[in-house]
Amino acid sequence: MPTPARVVFLPEADEPLAVEHVNLPDPSDFQVVVRQYASGICHSQLHQMHNPRNGDQILGHEATGEVIKVGAQVTNVAVGDMVFVTWVPRNAETATREVDPIVVERPNGRTATTRNVFTWADTTIADEKYIVKVPQDTRRDVTSIIGCAVLTGSGAVYNTAAVRAGQSVAVFGVGGVGLSAVVAASVVGADPIIAVDLDEEKLEFAKRFGATVGVNASSGDAIEQIHALTQSGLVTSFGEAVSGVDFAFDCIGREITMNQILQAVRPGVLGAETGGTAVLVGVPQSGVSFSETDMRGMLINEKKYIGSIGGSCRPDRDFPMFLAWAEDGALDLDAMVTERFTIGQINEATTALEHGEIFGRAIMDFND
Ligand SMILES: [Zn+2]
Repeated sequence: MPTPARVVFLPEADEPLAVEHVNLPDPSDFQVVVRQYASGICHSQLHQMHNPRNGDQILGHEATGEVIKVGAQVTNVAVGDMVFVTWVPRNAETATREVDPIVVERPNGRTATTRNVFTWADTTIADEKYIVKVPQDTRRDVTSIIGCAVLTGSGAVYNTAAVRAGQSVAVFGVGGVGLSAVVAASVVGADPIIAVDLDEEKLEFAKRFGATVGVNASSGDAIEQIHALTQSGLVTSFGEAVSGVDFAFDCIGREITMNQILQAVRPGVLGAETGGTAVLVGVPQSGVSFSETDMRGMLINEKKYIGSIGGSCRPDRDFPMFLAWAEDGALDLDAMVTERFTIGQINEATTALEHGEIFGRAIMDFND
């Protein structure tokens, strides 16, 4: 029997998002139907809205909910379980299994699809590889941002870069993902933790999550400020002062920040240690070019430039850890979720995000 659902559709044509009543199909062997409590609203969906597309789409990739139907081969969750929906396969075993396409039929007869999951809906259907069981008493609303924002930001620091106590970190862009990176840096004992943004209020806000210092890139050169904050007094055998951070995270993906993270990391010391690591976390919105000086610096200082997708997370392994951080206060989800919308307000929500009016992370609450 099909399941009624209210779903947000992104039309192929350049039109506003449409919220419509539809019927979801019954789950195939590995699929799960989830009645959702809340979903995060993230920049990736804005990118999807701005990019050309073939056909209508369904959006969103982080949510909390309760399992209401399972396919014949699903064993990791059962009806009644509290779960998170995420876009990263939950473990290595499921990661390479091919999934059935997700297709939802709209009232006008058109069909809409997604590459993995959709959570901008009060009820969703997804492959079990994207469904992670969590304790029944897990909070239903603010934890919905663990499935993308926390996974991406905290995972980049904890898993991809594996930052250790005492190492220095700079985080460019302190929205939901950047704040999550700051939290993980704080949990592992990084020092200093430098938040870089264009807005003084955002920098102050980041300190609530563990940033030890803020660098306002709109007042003076951010790279100079970072190097001034991280002088070691040492000199490399190439005569270069050793300053800069061990790790710089770009949580934005603009040409300027993709360039800055390479310049923000410290040089290596030949004979002693390799240089710092620039970590690309935000989805690139353009290409980037590096000067000859930057590239020579990368070579002689053994700097590294790496990408981090989904924070290199294994959700089955990592979500319990993030929930523990939330439990003990290190990850203050109540502070991080700064705006709430109903599903009917989705166009307002995306406009607010577009205009930079969302301070931390926005969620859609389906218990309205
Ligand atoms: Zn996302």
